Amino acid sequence: MNSISMMIFLGDILHNLGDGLAIGAAFSSTWVIGVGTSLAVFCHELPHEFGKCGLELSVCFKMCVKIFGRSGMIHCLQPMRMNR
Ligand SMILES: [Zn+2]
Repeated sequence: MNSISMMIFLGDILHNLGDGLAIGAAFSSTWVIGVGTSLAVFCHELPHEFGKCGLELSVCFKMCVKIFGRSGMIHCLQPMRMNR
């Protein structure tokens, strides 16, 4: 695991802990506030997860280029083509 992946992983742990505490605190108040807080967390998680996925794919492709070389990228892309 490289430093970028480790930074994303540790940051995600703290982020999800904070989200969980916020949702728990909101539901302990009233269920309406809990549902509202859950929706807010869901809405900010979507772009967060898309960005994280793009960054992880970028790291994965760079590792594939290191392992197989530029011409060997077909080895990394082959499983994705088979899923279509
Ligand atoms: Zn969050």
